[in-house]
Amino acid sequence: MSLAAGAEWRAGGCHCGAVRFEAALPAKILAQDCNCSVCSMTGFIHVIVPESRFRLLAGEDRLTAYRFNTGTATHLFCQVCGVKSFYRPRSNPDGWSVNARCLDDAAALAITAAPFDGRDWERHGAALAYLSKEAP
Ligand SMILES: [Zn+2]
Repeated sequence: MSLAAGAEWRAGGCHCGAVRFEAALPAKILAQDCNCSVCSMTGFIHVIVPESRFRLLAGEDRLTAYRFNTGTATHLFCQVCGVKSFYRPRSNPDGWSVNARCLDDAAALAITAAPFDGRDWERHGAALAYLSKEAP
């Protein structure tokens, strides 16, 4: 698999370290700051990637799932520390959303978080679908 220009595997994980992942990301990242009911409570900043640009390294057995509303999204939390470092988003069920706050080198990356109106999900959700499309 070839990565997009400038993309590198960047590691992250939950607070206690049980859950560890890598996502192939450029140094300059456009993220989404969603105002929906669950994101506004958890402070999750979305970095959405295609399936092939995410890999779980450790902690699959420590994850617990939470679903609500349509049940499409699978919110994944570490059972030990409670942190949601990544999950399967409703907007991109063919990809993953990584929490920008959980990337090891978040401070070294140029992350721009654009507001996303997830509170009005039916109107805006489809606008994010392209983010999980595999590069041709
Ligand atoms: Zn943890």
